[in-house]
Amino acid sequence: MMAIHIYLFVLGLILGSFFNVVGLSVPVNNTFANRRSACPSCGRKLTFSELIPVISYMVQDGKCRGCKARISPLYPLVEMLTGVLFASAPIFLGWSDELWIGWTVISLFMIILVSDVAYMLIPDKILLFFMVIFMILRVSYPLSPWWDSIVGASVGFSLLLLIAVVSKGGMGGGDIKLFAVIGFVLGTKIVLLSFLFASFYGAFFGIIGMLTGILKKKTLIPFGPYIVFGTLTAYFCGDSLLRWYVSFLR
Ligand SMILES: [Zn+2]
Repeated sequence: MMAIHIYLFVLGLILGSFFNVVGLSVPVNNTFANRRSACPSCGRKLTFSELIPVISYMVQDGKCRGCKARISPLYPLVEMLTGVLFASAPIFLGWSDELWIGWTVISLFMIILVSDVAYMLIPDKILLFFMVIFMILRVSYPLSPWWDSIVGASVGFSLLLLIAVVSKGGMGGGDIKLFAVIGFVLGTKIVLLSFLFASFYGAFFGIIGMLTGILKKKTLIPFGPYIVFGTLTAYFCGDSLLRWYVSFLR
């Protein structure tokens, strides 16, 4: 591993900590009400040593130092995941302009992961904010052909809308809008592959959940995490997987 990857990993850890705050505070109020600067259970102000990504959680054994309330493992997981994804993006995308898109996609996805798991909600404000950034980035670094953004957004939107209608509300409005954004920024091929992988992950973990009894038949589970991991698979490994599949068919 090169120094730059270590740097990106640490940057990801710190940003991941910020994405936790954004994902938790945007759906409930407008300000980043510094939710992580105090314990949500006892309200005690956290010291600097309790705010170090991942490490604080491990040292404190996942509990508040004051009231011993459990801290959700989602926070260190998101921090860790952001670090790993930031550092590995150049391996998949190469040191190209596309990396700016890649890092921005990762940032959006980590915020969505937090808010969808915590509230079953993908906030419009977040999607809108990132859509503006993606538009600016795609004007500078367009897909080829450039109109693949428009086709991709339409395909992503219509596909999920269709599923929502057929499944009678099994898919939330946030998921539909998210897929339009993914189609815009990554194009038609990736948005279709994303859907494929997201459905596969959803079905896979759904069956595991039922078999192990963790999920009851009518449990509502957020689809956002599956979209996030499905899209990352398609974006980072889609081409290699397609090539492998084609050679496998021959
Ligand atoms: Zn506490």
